[in-house]
Amino acid sequence: MVEIERHDYDVVVIGAGGAGLRAAIETRSRGLRTAVVCKSLFGKAHTVMAEGGIAASMGNVNSRDNWQVHFRDTMRGGKFLNNWRMAELHAKEAPDRVWELETYGALFDRTADGRISQRNFGGHEYPRLAHVGDRTGLELIRTLQQKVVSLQQEDHAASGDYEARIKVFQECTVTELLRDGDRIAGAFAYWRETGRFVLFRAPAVILATGGIGKSFKVTSNSWEYTGDGHALALRAGASLINMEFVQFHPTGMVWPPSVKGILVTESVRGDGGVLRNSAGDRFMFDYIPEVFKDNYADNEAEADRWYTDPDNNRRPPELLPRDEVARAINNEVKEGRGSEHGGVFLDVATRLSTEEITRRLPSMHHQFKELADVDITAESMEVGPTCHYVMGGVEVEPDTAASRVPGLFAAGEVAGGMHGSNRLGGNSLSDLLVFGRRAGIGAADYVGGLAARPEIGESDVDHAARGAQEPFDADTGSAGENPYGLHAELQQVMNDLVGIIRRGEEMRQALERLHELKARSARLAVEGNRQFNPGWHLALDLRNMLLVSECVARAALLRTESRGGHTRDDHPSMESQWRRRLLACSVIGDRVEVVEEEQPPMREDLLSLFKLEELRKYYTEEELTEVPAS
Ligand code: FAD
Repeated sequence: MVEIERHDYDVVVIGAGGAGLRAAIETRSRGLRTAVVCKSLFGKAHTVMAEGGIAASMGNVNSRDNWQVHFRDTMRGGKFLNNWRMAELHAKEAPDRVWELETYGALFDRTADGRISQRNFGGHEYPRLAHVGDRTGLELIRTLQQKVVSLQQEDHAASGDYEARIKVFQECTVTELLRDGDRIAGAFAYWRETGRFVLFRAPAVILATGGIGKSFKVTSNSWEYTGDGHALALRAGASLINMEFVQFHPTGMVWPPSVKGILVTESVRGDGGVLRNSAGDRFMFDYIPEVFKDNYADNEAEADRWYTDPDNNRRPPELLPRDEVARAINNEVKEGRGSEHGGVFLDVATRLSTEEITRRLPSMHHQFKELADVDITAESMEVGPTCHYVMGGVEVEPDTAASRVPGLFAAGEVAGGMHGSNRLGGNSLSDLLVFGRRAGIGAADYVGGLAARPEIGESDVDHAARGAQEPFDADTGSAGENPYGLHAELQQVMNDLVGIIRRGEEMRQALERLHELKARSARLAVEGNRQFNPGWHLALDLRNMLLVSECVARAALLRTESRGGHTRDDHPSMESQWRRRLLACSVIGDRVEVVEEEQPPMREDLLSLFKLEELRKYYTEEELTEVPAS
């Protein structure tokens, strides 16, 4: 029998990005012994990479902003498919979460009169993103880590042990969740460096593992985003919703090939940057969809006036929600008006002074100089769509972040519902703070209400250990599969067949290819032993990527309309009857099953925040008869 390190906690938080840390601060503050487990180094998460800012209607730059406007923008961005209760909680609580960060020590950029500065972003009616230059995520993570350390110092003062109530297990990857009957009982993991196995016994687990971008070839995401939390939840009996909605950010780097996909922050456009095609035309004016026509300028003069007089002019179309801009760029390139390397041009050089560019966009300036030898104060950037974010995730109860499985909670990018079919920029950092805290409260209440702690059966522990060991044991002879090769094939399939523009026939092909890759993954063979072995790590991640990719492809094939991050060439219009239909994935035996669920109707007071003419663009005639007269 293999040796297994064992720990007992009240709560295990998987993931140390913004959602995980905010959740852990809450559980520890409510007296629960909390383990924070992360597969990367502590601090290295996607949150640290966030650039543009945190969306919160503090109204510091435009006093007309308030939670109702933020709620409306979020629902419009998600094309009304959002879980409206989550969107409501998010819009109401985001300002408090940002102010709270200040009490933890965050230093945001300021307005001239000393308040937290807020910048414009796509889909947000008013300047709303609290920021620190274009390095907001770094400050967010720094601050949350600082808070964790201060709590540990309190614990040391009280008990002599810094780690008495909150301990970080970094470079430790969770491979399985363990249950006692239906309910959560713990998590099984391995240390990346030594390969030794670890068992966490705990009645509650909070998933905060982020997204799935590494299943796609061109992505802004880094190596951790292999959909682990999504897959762990599925295998533990939870369901995923909205998996067909994957966000392709309009502006990733396209050249040189080694950096293709790396993000070019939306702040470039928020601060005045414009998109041009190879003929020099500002093409976004040709792509304003009917539903947004009232809010976006249809000529350059008005669009440019908006930056200095937003109350009397409509917004520039470069600031349409991301799905619209990404599709427009895709089309320009397809129709032969793209740049040399298959993108379009993002021009900030002719719009802002050198001093402003280096002050407002220091990371972008540095990134292009270092990686592409382009000086963005003098030249345009070449940009194109890149897989960036998954709107789909664990189906949770909005107020508590509880999944279907007792004791299992999810927050941040791994949770689904909040963003509907498309997330607005800046709404992820606020989401993870709001729902990270709520997951912490949900888990604390759950643990507090338990009569007895769950038990983990030794046979389940053995099973998890054998599963993790499998890639070494495969008796494959010469037929062994290389994890790197298989991963590259998966990424190509997802990029080409379930990417930004989708077709039924291609998605059916994708499902066949995924089926074949899954069969081959049973023969994944890894050499050496468990001591720092990246091939083995990837072999384990691949199981998760294949499972989650199947959910994306199956749900995308079933949704016969185009909405937000899901665009079908063979079903190009948005269909009102699909608005209330959610696709929920679960795993039955070895099979992914997708069932339709109905979104509950929006509460009347929230519905009354919209004009009937606007609802007409999204609702069926039958639904409209139920809308209260305004
Ligand atoms: P993360 O911050 O990614 O944390 C995930 C954690 O889970 C990590 O600690 C990881 O190690 C751990 N983990 C994963 N799997 C396992 C496992 N099996 N076992 C143990 N640990 C595991 N959003 C905004 O709102 N504003 C922005 O300006 C913005 N800019 C962005 C810029 C870039 C380049 C990128 C990539 C994203 C940006 N986003 C932005 C999106 C946002 O950063 C992410 O959606 C958000 O940070 C996700 O936070 P999270 O806490 O859910 O996950």
